[in-house]
Amino acid sequence: MSILLHICCGPCAAYPLDFLQGQGIRVRGFFYNPNIHPYREFKKRLVAVEQLAARENLAVEYHREYGLRDYLRQVVFNESSRCGLCYDMRLRETVEQAKKIRADAFSTTLLYSRYQNHEQIRAKAKQLAEQHKIPFYYHDFREGWQQGIDMSKDMGLYRQSYCGCIYSEQERYDTHFRKRKGKKG
Ligand code: SF4
Repeated sequence: MSILLHICCGPCAAYPLDFLQGQGIRVRGFFYNPNIHPYREFKKRLVAVEQLAARENLAVEYHREYGLRDYLRQVVFNESSRCGLCYDMRLRETVEQAKKIRADAFSTTLLYSRYQNHEQIRAKAKQLAEQHKIPFYYHDFREGWQQGIDMSKDMGLYRQSYCGCIYSEQERYDTHFRKRKGKKG
């Protein structure tokens, strides 16, 4: 069986890749993440995926263009539902690529993260699978959370401190300042 695996970043790919290969599945990677900002952050995450791919001998199709404009055109004025739009953008492109290369199924490393909306990703992928008539390979990769962290640290991969978009980058500081204010108050 062959799977096209959407890869959101190197650290999130370590465990799912290990798991899928352990099942005897042939995996090809797909890096398409217009949600990662700013540009230097995008490059850092792309390089981390290249490092992982070289180490694991994984073939990956890369979208190397910085997708800030494409992403913003989808979410501006819809910020409160931006994560659903963001999942849709990335999974839709993955499905189209999976069909193009005639993969048996598709999946995503987004299913590894404890910080993502797992059920929303699952539902969106199922919906796209039905629409495009290609199977979605579901597995709850969160079971390997700590293992994935250990693996990515061993490999020396860059580990990011926020989800990806400029909104999530801002929210990380909002949280930090709220905590500091709380302490002072
Ligand atoms: S917080 Fe993460 S999942 Fe949500 S829109 Fe931003 S990058 Fe996408």
